[in-house]
Amino acid sequence: MMLKLGALSQTNSEIARVINEQSANSLALCKQLHQNPELSTMEFKTAKLMVAELEKAGMEVYPDFGGNSVVGILKNGKGPVVMIRTDMDALPIEEKTGLDFASSVISENSDGDEVSVMHACGHDIHMSVWAGAIHTLVTLKDHWKGTLMVIAQQAEELSQGAGPAIDAGLFSKFPVPDYALAYHINPELESGKIGLVGGPVFAGVKTVNITVFGKGGHGAYPEKCIDPIVIASRIVLDLQTIVSREISPLDPAVVTVGSIHGGTRPNIIPDEVKMELTLRYYSESVLEQILSAIQRISNAAATMAGIPDDKLPLVEVEPENTPPVINDNKLSSLVRQFASETIGEKNILQTSPAMVGEDFGKYGLTPENVPICLIWLGSTAPDEMEKLKAEGKEPYPLHSPYLNPDYAKTIETGIKVMVGNVLGLMRD
Ligand SMILES: [Zn+2]
Ligand SMILES: [Zn+2]
Repeated sequence: MMLKLGALSQTNSEIARVINEQSANSLALCKQLHQNPELSTMEFKTAKLMVAELEKAGMEVYPDFGGNSVVGILKNGKGPVVMIRTDMDALPIEEKTGLDFASSVISENSDGDEVSVMHACGHDIHMSVWAGAIHTLVTLKDHWKGTLMVIAQQAEELSQGAGPAIDAGLFSKFPVPDYALAYHINPELESGKIGLVGGPVFAGVKTVNITVFGKGGHGAYPEKCIDPIVIASRIVLDLQTIVSREISPLDPAVVTVGSIHGGTRPNIIPDEVKMELTLRYYSESVLEQILSAIQRISNAAATMAGIPDDKLPLVEVEPENTPPVINDNKLSSLVRQFASETIGEKNILQTSPAMVGEDFGKYGLTPENVPICLIWLGSTAPDEMEKLKAEGKEPYPLHSPYLNPDYAKTIETGIKVMVGNVLGLMRD
């Protein structure tokens, strides 16, 4: 029997009861995950916990799939293949929330330095919602037909999770999903609500490094040197004109110089200056335009200062690629419809595209053309939001050491929405 989704809103329904039970388990799992965060590509214990959840759910489990990622498959008759993705990694941040389950973990990063680690991007909540939705769907197996495919993905923060999983054969060793869903917490939205947008959601991300060469010497004899600090300063200012003067105001783009390093002492003109940039974009043609402008501006500033052609700035584009996340319009309107049946229309907000990046977009950019949809999951308690607004403040953002989501409500809403989506997509 296929249950009508509307039943989800009735507290006495079977689905509501199962979700209630699962929400409590997921909250406990979330606290455990929060206290034991692991850095990107080092999610060993976290992956083991995810494997245990999938085994408990009776799924086929494929650990170490493209690194630490874990894939689970549950075939339940003829029907669509729906994929749900969570990420697993935490951040090198020292937690300052003061929560009784706050992290005090210190780990060695990939450079061998000791760093504090915190789930400051809500991936602990994502995993708990993921596991809760899976257990709920397994319990409600009689109410849907199809294949549930789930992935707990490594290294989202480094954009090194989706790519390796796809390269390891995610869409060739397993059935190709008809739909792929994910969610990300959003402290700007109240818990109990979700945010949806059709089309672009997250921007593409590129990292560019520029090395500016000069002719070093004594700080007291500038006439015998070519000062790369002056050239680099000029480049930083001229780079600001790319977005303001070269890109159409209708195309979103960001060029940020996030780091600049040159010199050691006040009285030494250094030989070189290094800069690191992050670029954000929504279309490949805009990215190309920005990259060529960076090279042109850098060369021009160096030439103007008298740098010879063989010492022009070295502009290196890092190969790592985070493409934009583009929500499939049809799938996002289905998600909107199912979510309105589970949490009510008034709890679904229309959100705007963001300039942050997410590697979930990669799942939608393979030759298989999988329709994807990323859902924002509101995570700030409504009374907290009201208090902050009254004080003219904003909730702590993602990646803040003070990030303190409304765990219980956010998890419960996430499970409801995700279960509603899968039941909706698989109802006939
Ligand atoms: Zn993050
Ligand atoms: Zn994140």
